[in-house]
Amino acid sequence: RNEGLGSWPHRRARISAEDTALIHDDRHWSYGEVRERVSRLAGGLHRVGVARGTRVAYLGPNHPAFVETMFAAGQLGAVFVPLNSRLAAAELGTILRDAEPDVLVVAPDLAGTAEDALAGAPVRHRFVVGDRPAASMEALEPLIAQSSPGDAPDVPVVLDDLAMLMYTSGTTGEPKGVALTHANLTWNCFNVLIDVDVSQDEVTLVSAPLFHTAALNQTFLPTFVKGGTSVLVSAFDPDETLELIERHRISWMFGVPAMFQALAQSPKWESADLSSIRAVEAGGAPVPEDLIRTYQARGMTFMQGYGMTEAAPGVSFLRAKDSLSKVGSAGAPCFFSDVDVVDDNGCSVPEGRPGEVVVRGPNVMRGYWGKPDATAAVMSDDGWFHSGDLAERDEDGYLYIVDRVKDMFISGGENIYPAEIENALHEHAAVADCAVIGVPDERWGETGRAFVVPHHGQHLTEEEMRGFLEQRLARYKIPKSLVLVDELPRSASGKLLKKELRTD
Ligand code: ATP
Ligand code: MG
Repeated sequence: RNEGLGSWPHRRARISAEDTALIHDDRHWSYGEVRERVSRLAGGLHRVGVARGTRVAYLGPNHPAFVETMFAAGQLGAVFVPLNSRLAAAELGTILRDAEPDVLVVAPDLAGTAEDALAGAPVRHRFVVGDRPAASMEALEPLIAQSSPGDAPDVPVVLDDLAMLMYTSGTTGEPKGVALTHANLTWNCFNVLIDVDVSQDEVTLVSAPLFHTAALNQTFLPTFVKGGTSVLVSAFDPDETLELIERHRISWMFGVPAMFQALAQSPKWESADLSSIRAVEAGGAPVPEDLIRTYQARGMTFMQGYGMTEAAPGVSFLRAKDSLSKVGSAGAPCFFSDVDVVDDNGCSVPEGRPGEVVVRGPNVMRGYWGKPDATAAVMSDDGWFHSGDLAERDEDGYLYIVDRVKDMFISGGENIYPAEIENALHEHAAVADCAVIGVPDERWGETGRAFVVPHHGQHLTEEEMRGFLEQRLARYKIPKSLVLVDELPRSASGKLLKKELRTD
């Protein structure tokens, strides 16, 4: 019996074979079709030797082939390894050597990058999505076409088996391979189904990349298990996204704050019909309050999720019912996640004081792949995962994410949390985007430096910035210098890469 992810297309198709599971580029796939293609692909992968524990990697943007490869691997008890399609060949090579997959499936546009990545990382079977081979890679479609649905063996899979190696976003350092079990993914799905109340009529926009935890585990899988429709978008474009929302009558979407910001800055924002959206969900980075209010002013419920790859990812959630009364909060613990905020000794800190977020529950990873020391550094003996994030709790136990421990800097003995300053800067009319980091300072140890992307045709001086922030923040928090830039370095999921600002 297969208790894992790989059985989901079969279980779902038993009840909703005719319903639309996926939409991509205006093509529709029913749950029945997904089941059929997944079974055939599992048969093909079995033929080339994929078995329990084999790693099967996928490199590409959001596409039905991603979903099919994931489920087919799951059907065989193999471990799915989604790869970040924005990484350079050398970075991918490092990950391939770490995960050691036997199979790599690649989107056609990335065949060249994959070839380079594979130079130092032998992977036995390489397939390119579609019916045309490329360089050293066979076409994937014949593998599917030449199998029948019954070809794959029934591999027993239990919830405790490894399901996925998912690499962290690499915001603070090298991406780490997070070993997630079928149980981790299943329990996170429960968390979402309970907290977001996903319905079978859901039409979910999946435009954040599936190779990161939020899009895959927090939106796609819950929509799939419930029988809703996922609209898969390969590349996020704000104008196109607004059109897709109208065309498909999207009811729910996830995005990192930078995506929601880009939508609100699109020339189509004012006229777009957003009436089908019952709620949007932001997460992955600190969410400026100004942004939340912009969406609320358009009548949308603004939910916030907080989590990380290691927690598959749900830690806390700001549910619809709290979205107006707790603006800016990352919510209360997810149903099956236990959350605490602790000091350096692991003791709970009182409300209103910052401490590190720790999380425990059936959604928390088994560990970092092949890195027992790194795992031991973040997991306590009694199962608490140390997130590296600072948060405060209010009197009702709601979390307010302050910043990452690594982004905090100390100026004249005071702890400074850049996210608080960024939040204030976002309120300035000339500021389209911003980031604050600490830079060495002879007198204060460190001081703040603000990087600001001004709105088109607008300008900001250091003096204006200081005057504006003085009304909002204590003097010691105000950045000493300002750098105007055209854009900020961001990862594939729109996360600010402060490590790149620091090296400039
Ligand atoms: P790496 O671990 O490789 O440095 P990463 O931490 O960005 O990268 P992810 O697991 O994708 O990789 O992201 C989780 C992190 O994102 C959290 O630890 C937290 O810092 C941040 N985050 C997620 N949700 C929120 C939120 N709602 N508010 C503020 N920060 C958030
Ligand atoms: Mg992290």
